[in-house]
Amino acid sequence: MRKLIFFLFFLVLSTPIVSAQQYDLVLEGGRVMDPETGLDAVRNIGIRDGKIVRISSEALSGRRVIHATGLVVAPGFIDLHQHGQEMESQRVKALDGVTTALELEIGAPDVAQFLKTKEGHSLIHYGTSASHAAARALVFGAPLLPGEILPKSGPATDQPATPEQIMRIEQRLRSELDAGGLALGMGIQYTPGATRLEVIDMFRLAAERRVPVYTHVRSSSRVDPGSSIESVSEVIAASAISGASLHIVHINSSCLRDAPECLSMVEGARSRGLDVTIEAYPYIAGMTYINSALFNPGWQEKEGGISYGDLVLPNTGEHLTRERFDELHNSSNPQTVLVFANTQEVLDKVIPHPLVMIASDGFQGHPRNAGTYSRVLAQYVREKGTITLMDALRKMSLMPAEMLERSTPVARQKGRLQEGADADIVVFDAATISDHATFEKPMEPSVGVHYLLVAGTVVVNEGKIVPDVFPGRALPGRAALHDERSLRSP
Ligand SMILES: [Zn+2]
Repeated sequence: MRKLIFFLFFLVLSTPIVSAQQYDLVLEGGRVMDPETGLDAVRNIGIRDGKIVRISSEALSGRRVIHATGLVVAPGFIDLHQHGQEMESQRVKALDGVTTALELEIGAPDVAQFLKTKEGHSLIHYGTSASHAAARALVFGAPLLPGEILPKSGPATDQPATPEQIMRIEQRLRSELDAGGLALGMGIQYTPGATRLEVIDMFRLAAERRVPVYTHVRSSSRVDPGSSIESVSEVIAASAISGASLHIVHINSSCLRDAPECLSMVEGARSRGLDVTIEAYPYIAGMTYINSALFNPGWQEKEGGISYGDLVLPNTGEHLTRERFDELHNSSNPQTVLVFANTQEVLDKVIPHPLVMIASDGFQGHPRNAGTYSRVLAQYVREKGTITLMDALRKMSLMPAEMLERSTPVARQKGRLQEGADADIVVFDAATISDHATFEKPMEPSVGVHYLLVAGTVVVNEGKIVPDVFPGRALPGRAALHDERSLRSP
């Protein structure tokens, strides 16, 4: 009994101490939105050691208090598809609300080197898949040069691999996954020599290692054989055969005018129990390297029936002619080119679809690098009213986090605005947020993000990038995490 009295006395004494507790940072009075629980209310958020510790309607005290009245406070956006990993791109991503930007479509050519280079030098969180295209180039004796992510069109992209070569590609991919790769990245259109069986073998490897396959499918053509319908069927079949989870990137540009049909194919596959997910970006043009195998003979049809004049050089706005195309395609210089192949009408059907996550495919030279997330919030939530604010946040944070959970348990703490989650948070003005990047000025930052927190560190303060803070951390794949644990345990 005396023990109980003592305990109650202690409890009474300690309660005021707990409620007066100082947080590292408090976000006060914002409209807090969490797509998983549906919370949409004015709350205060207490952050400590990079985590959301408290969400409350009571006042909280912190070493720093940010007044968020009138602003939306949401989980930071997770971009599953970001090629531009240098600091300039990271800055415009941060101003677009992105707290995690991953290179998953193709993948860095060397996972260990990628992770090492970024450690301690990253504004936002990062990670990469293991690259099938790079592994293939290596095995064919034409390894990618530093800074490249895609091979130039040649034997390494166009020839079928022998069984022995496939074995060596798999060996390389296994070691890339061990080094921390989050998934298997396959740009099938960039390695047209890969046979149907090679694709199935890669999916089998992914299934064996329990990681998803992120893929840019074989063709965007409207004509069979080789249509986008066939290309989407190819990867859905490989997923069914192998059991590997499948993520099809940019369904907007991979299926073009047949995107509604591709969406219904994915719905069908999912309703049959297959794990297939998709993403899109809100622009009518794509962008890629002109010397890649995507522009091998027959490219006009594979890109949905376009021609030379639909190819435009970024920044200068030069429309290509046949002669200029030949010169650039045959060059070893990896020049990027904008590909105008889609319509606004198709995009307006794709972006609001409930299965579609938002991912930017960002790279310098295309406005999607800087503007994707703000553009969806401005155009689809505010102007067209075809997506609710909560659903847009779901497409930008929770859905990609859930996708990442197939690769790493670390993702369970991301994409949520909940106690215990990582303090990756965007604070923005829903009434003014908008993209300013254009095809003429592709690196123009978005406006409307007032604050951005990465692991509890403020990286955007009053709409401006905070200099010299690098709180971004690696999201390592399951294999690397497992190795770490087994190294630590005696
Ligand atoms: Zn792509």
